[in-house]
Amino acid sequence: TYIFINDEFVDESEGKINYSDRGYNFGDGIYEYIRIYDGKVFTSKEHYERLFRSAKEIGLNLEGYSVEGLTEVTKTLAAKNNVVNGGVYIQVTRGVAPRNHPFPDASTKPVFSAFSKSYDRPYEELKNGVKAITVDDIRWLRCDIKSLNLLGNVLAKEKAAQNGAFEAIMHRDQTVTEGSSSNVYAVKDGKIYTHPANNLILNGITRRIIKKSAEALNIPFIEEAFTLDFLNDADEVIISSTSIEVMPVIQVNDNKIGDGKVGQITKQLQKSFDNYIESEA
Ligand code: PLP
Repeated sequence: TYIFINDEFVDESEGKINYSDRGYNFGDGIYEYIRIYDGKVFTSKEHYERLFRSAKEIGLNLEGYSVEGLTEVTKTLAAKNNVVNGGVYIQVTRGVAPRNHPFPDASTKPVFSAFSKSYDRPYEELKNGVKAITVDDIRWLRCDIKSLNLLGNVLAKEKAAQNGAFEAIMHRDQTVTEGSSSNVYAVKDGKIYTHPANNLILNGITRRIIKKSAEALNIPFIEEAFTLDFLNDADEVIISSTSIEVMPVIQVNDNKIGDGKVGQITKQLQKSFDNYIESEA
């Protein structure tokens, strides 16, 4: 299995990270996770444009790198590993320097690394829906940056796992923000509600596709924060991400959502998403 590290494709057994890498010491870096469908890189431009935005927001200099170049790396890595359906994870840290909080010398080079993996789309879950729990959103106030610092997300997801749930839906003082690794939507009376794409959530690439689909389907897409009570009382609940696509949530904590079955709007959005995959491929 190949990985990409320090601008080279090497066997994973040869990948080495310096113990003074700022990603390792501080979580000082950013990442993206990109889907491969049928051997093709899906929405690569959107992901790498977001990576460049994250870099800019944390003052990480990506001079010399481009969306096109990184897309090429992604394609090559997937092809070298014969990934037909799966994903590529890519991260970049602020580089190697003696541990000290302020930014290192401007000549410090960012460190890129990437791996790929093969897996099928989550057909069963997409068809039957999943369970979620709710947890406090204890993260920082720049959740719009796809940062390597995922401790808040990790603790939330672990709680879900311990409770036999697929995802943890987070809230700040009763206001639903997003999932530990997904965006969250509540459908009520034929309208889709989701938290505005501000500093409190990651503006998901899948969220953007869902927004476009909703517009094409003439379903109102309302970017307004809603409460836990509204979530519990929703007709349908959906979570979305690059890896789980348009995922129905049929139960939140002990509460059944709607009639406990996958809803009609969810199904319409899933169909649009399938068409979008087809059209990109
Ligand atoms: N929100 C969080 C916290 C995430 O980690 C993710 C993806 O991993 C998302 C939302 C969904 O983003 P995307 O659709 O771009 O994968």
